[in-house]
Order: sequence, then C-alpha cells, then structure tokens
Amino acid sequence: MVLILGAGLAGLSAAFHLDDRDVLVVERENEVGGLCRSIREQGFTFDYTGHLLHLRDADIRQWIEGLMPGAFAHLERSAWIHSHDVLTPYPFQVNTSNLPLAVRLECLTGFIETLRHPERRAIPVPDAVSVEPGLPHLAVAPPPAEGEPNFLDWIHDSFGAGFAQHFFVPYNGKLWRRDLAQVTGDWVSWSIPRPELSDVLRGAITGSDKAFGYNPQFLYPAAGGIDHLPRALAAALPADRIRLDTSVVSLDAGARRATFAGGETHDAETILTSIPLPTLARMTTDLPDALRDTAAELSHVSIRAVNLGVRGEAAHADAQWIYVPEPRLPFHRVGLPAALTPAMAPPGHHALVAEIAYLPDDEPGAEAHLQQTIDGLLELGLLRSPDDIVHTRVVDIPEAYVVFDSARRRALPELFRWYVQRRVVPMGRYGSWDYTSMEDSLRHGRSVAGWIREPTS
Ligand SMILES: Cc1cc2nc3c(=O)[nH]c(=O)nc-3n(C[C@H](O)[C@H](O)[C@H](O)COP(=O)(O)OP(=O)(O)OC[C@H]3O[C@@H](n4cnc5c(N)ncnc54)[C@H](O)[C@@H]3O)c2cc1C
Repeated sequence: MVLILGAGLAGLSAAFHLDDRDVLVVERENEVGGLCRSIREQGFTFDYTGHLLHLRDADIRQWIEGLMPGAFAHLERSAWIHSHDVLTPYPFQVNTSNLPLAVRLECLTGFIETLRHPERRAIPVPDAVSVEPGLPHLAVAPPPAEGEPNFLDWIHDSFGAGFAQHFFVPYNGKLWRRDLAQVTGDWVSWSIPRPELSDVLRGAITGSDKAFGYNPQFLYPAAGGIDHLPRALAAALPADRIRLDTSVVSLDAGARRATFAGGETHDAETILTSIPLPTLARMTTDLPDALRDTAAELSHVSIRAVNLGVRGEAAHADAQWIYVPEPRLPFHRVGLPAALTPAMAPPGHHALVAEIAYLPDDEPGAEAHLQQTIDGLLELGLLRSPDDIVHTRVVDIPEAYVVFDSARRRALPELFRWYVQRRVVPMGRYGSWDYTSMEDSLRHGRSVAGWIREPTS
C-alpha cells in the first residue's frame, strides 16, 4: 500500500498515476487542493493569491486539458509595475520608457557597465544533483563555494546598479524580508529574463513589443477559481482513496508508520509526503537529532493576502496584477482577479488582492496590514474610496516561499537521502522545499509514481 500525505496537486497527481495500486491519500483539510483551493464568499472568488497555470510539458498539458475539456481560458499576460508614480509594463528591464529620464539613464548606464564584465555574468551556479535516480525533483546544488555569486551579486552582474536600485533590490527585499546577499544565486534566476542591450535600449525609448519572461501566456479556469483543477483530479479517483479531515501528527519512517490525530496508525510499503519538510522533520520520531537540527535551519517567508471585494469597475481595467517595489507600501504585488475572468466578482464589482510578505516573528498583525493596505491602495489610485469595499477577507499562507540560502543547500541532500532510504519520498513544493509551480507539483507526483513502478529508472 502507498500512503500519500497531503491532497494538494502533488498528492493528487501521485494517486492518479498509481490508479492500479492500493493507495490512500490523507488530507488534514476538509477539501482537496492545498494551495490550489479557492474561497467563495458574497459572489467573489479568491485563490490563495493569483494561481495561473503554465503547462510547458506536453504530456501534462494533454492530461490536464483532457481531464477538463474546454474548462480553461487561454490568457495573455497583462502585468505591470508601479514605480516612480507611473505604471510600466512587466518586465521592468525592457520597459522603462514611461519612467523619469534620470531613472532611465541610471538603468541604461548601469546595464551597459555590466556588458564590460561579461565574465561576471557567466559565473554559473553548480548544477543541482538528485539524491536518487528516478526522482529528478529531489535535486539540489552543492553548498555554495567561495566566490559563487549570491542573489544580490547576480542582480548587479546581470542588470547593473540602476535596475538594481529602481526595481530588483526593493522588490525582492520586500518579498524575501532579508539582505539579498543571504539569498543564493540558484534562486530562480531562470525566471527573471536577462535581455540583450538592444531590448533594453528599445525599452527605454519606446517600450518593448516582445513577449519576455516565462509566463507571457497561461491558462485559468473560465468558470473562476483554480480549485477546479484539484477538484477535477479528485473526481477522477475512487472516492475511498481520499480521506479528508485527517491530520498526520507523527511518522516512524523506519517502520513506515503514520499516526493520525486521534491516535489511529497506518502502515505502508511506501509513503509519499507533501507535508512541509521542516514540519515533517519535527514529527518524524526516528529522525537523528543531527538531521533534526539541520532541518530546523530551513527558512521560509509567509504571505498575508488582503482580499477585497470592491464596488465599481477596476481603475486599470485590463491589468491582471501589478508589482509594487516601493518600500513605503506594505504589499509587493496587487492582483486583480476579475481581469482573468469576470466570474471572479459579482456584476458591477471587482476584487483587489494585496500580497504582503512577512516573517512569523516580525509582523504587525492582520488588522494593521489591512489598514496599511487600504491606505496604500488609495495612494496608488487602485481604490477610489474605502466606502467601495463591500467584502474583506484576510488569508495567511504560513509557509509560502522557501528561502534559498546556503543552509538549504547543506540540509536538503542529507534529509532527502535519509527519507528515501526508508521509502518515505518527499515531493511537491514544500515536501521538496523548493520554488515550484503547479505544473511542477503535478510532475513530482507523476515521477514518484514512475519511481514506485520502476525504482531503478
Ligand atoms: C503566493 C503563491 C502564489 C502562487 N502562484 C502560482 C502560480 O501563479 N502558478 C503556479 O503554477 N504556481 C503558483 N504557486 C505555487 C503552487 O501553489 C504550488 O506549487 C502547488 O500548489 C503546490 O502543491 P503541492 O501539492 O506541492 O503542495 P500543497 O498545495 O501545499 O499541498 C500539501 C497538502 O498537504 C496537506 N497537509 C499538510 N500537512 C498535513 C498533515 N500534517 N496531515 C495531512 N495533510 C497535511 C495540506 O493541507 C495540503 O493540502 C504559488 C504559490 C504561492 C505561495
């Protein structure tokens, strides 16, 4: 029997791909989906902040579109940045033409300066190595060597001092809530487009006419709510394979025995887990103390989403989300979900979703964040009056972003190896303690199922 801890996308995908096996998925919530759930209140639909589906793997795309025929709207990105009192299209580095001349010049001269040091742009982060053949998602780069550029170096070497000062450092500082020199260079540098000089110059004069970045097109359920995806996956499974309202409270990895709240125990041949790795380490009774200490060094950032239902049309009718690098404003991003599909808000209304990153031991509390958000949205002109707010829902995502630092690169291989040797396989965004997408979690579930079938592949 295969026991799957967590009915997020990774757990559901693993169960789907093991449909001929004896499988049980246990989930602590009263519904499936994990981070891909949606809240529906007073005609508004709020995801756990914007969840846009990018399906690059042809097999996964065929599988998901086959499972939900005609369900998805195919959308073009309309993302913006609010900076120096103007809106510029995303990505910032090829769209500075709306900005004040002095800012444009600083960005351009800084970028040109980086081209004089191509050797700095070329220093690679070592390749990530998986601890187990057949489980490509359990891959981590070796601990950083002397001289390896950190994320702050990477920003300066790739974009120069002007872009760093006017966008990358303030934006990422708000998101990561720490000195960016503590973030390692393997943090999703792939997702930040590094343009050519001609693109930067064109962007400073006329703006860009090219699609840059990893997400210019995406899918979103036309009926509104990303939870349509996990619900469709769960509906494809026999009902008795998923047990909701069942919290796993401890794990004996050597015996492959999970204990549920209430004391019931469950033994399995293989356990797949998408429980956040530091939580799993705390609940694993036979984990050696040294590994427990290592796991305790893993860090994360939490997100508070201030969801507002608002009367009237949105101030920027087509904007789907807006990045906000300015340090004086509490949020780093504002989503406008009704621009994805009108089904997200009642007629004559729209929604605003402000995302605020915080550290658990350093936050002012939800009430303060709500008030700061309303003030900030009024200042940006995204909210015309507090009287237009007809619904408020503040949602916390405690472990939202895994911090990429040297502790992570030291800890993960040892932890992964220890669990996999006992046939307890971490997977998903928080099981593998990674920065991954919905598609990645679907892929993790699929590859873990493949590994169970053919352990040496
Ligand atoms: C703010 C934010 C925005 C994002 N936006 C996007 C986006 O636009 N596009 C995109 O592709 N991806 C996005 N993602 C990433 C995406 O949400 C995740 O990659 C994916 O949903 C993770 O699925 P999972 O199954 O790996 O983990 P989870 O969704 O975390 O599932 C884990 C499950 O385990 C359950 N669980 C935990 N502990 C226990 C326990 N003790 N006992 C039983 N069950 C337990 C949880 O309740 C949960 O259901 C975003 C993430 C965040 C934080």
